[in-house]
Amino acid sequence: MTTLLKVNGLKVAYGGIQAVKGASFEVREGELVSLIGANGAGKTTTLKAITGLQPVGAGDIEFLGRSVKGQGSWELVKQGLVMVPEGRGTFTRMSITENLLMGAFVRNDKEINADIEKVFGIFPRLKERRNQLAGTMSGGEQQMLAMGRALMARPKVLLLDEPSMGLSPIMVDKIFEVVADIAKQGVTILLVEQNASRALQLANRGYVMESGEVTMSGEAAALLNDPKVRAAYLGE
Ligand code: ATP
Repeated sequence: MTTLLKVNGLKVAYGGIQAVKGASFEVREGELVSLIGANGAGKTTTLKAITGLQPVGAGDIEFLGRSVKGQGSWELVKQGLVMVPEGRGTFTRMSITENLLMGAFVRNDKEINADIEKVFGIFPRLKERRNQLAGTMSGGEQQMLAMGRALMARPKVLLLDEPSMGLSPIMVDKIFEVVADIAKQGVTILLVEQNASRALQLANRGYVMESGEVTMSGEAAALLNDPKVRAAYLGE
């Protein structure tokens, strides 16, 4: 299996505070990989560094076999490294359809409308509300929209930062269902989640992050059965 994304000894600091202290992990083609860990472990910071939103202190990030360290977000999206940020970041004063079109801003092909229909196929709720302003949608609907918008960029690796955060239990179920669906369609996914149990149930492999370091890794099923993971992250 080809490695699409490789993070090697990544260090990221905010001023004097080391938030990520040498994290290494990789995501291979077709995989769903979950990165789990407590609040403040450095998961979001890691995603921001990968996507060019936070400067890399040390280490390297390889995407499709080449170092992309220091590249800007736009450049990375164009190459297929696309993030759905925590808090979603939809364009609140634009309609659903306009938001989806924004997701395709890096593209210059004739299949954009066909892809919007595909996104509507995954998220029928978005289709029903295609002309509604994004800002008037519920949290779960906005999460769907943010994921749909990211798919419009035709990601080679899709990075999802806490998609279940702040959603009702029914919406959480729905969002995890959709993540599984997107993965089944062949999109490679790195899923960052505090909901360790759900994230590992969906994943092929997982990494555990603690205080800025990757402390455990393995097949998701093995991590789910690991007594340390169960005690620390699955409430046992
Ligand atoms: P959460 O699930 O709560 O988002 P996380 O694992 O994603 O947690 P990060 O958000 O990456 O963790 O935070 C890692 C550390 O970096 C924390 O100690 C946090 O306080 C710190 N941090 C994050 N953003 C900033 C910032 N902009 N300025 C200073 N420190 C920050």
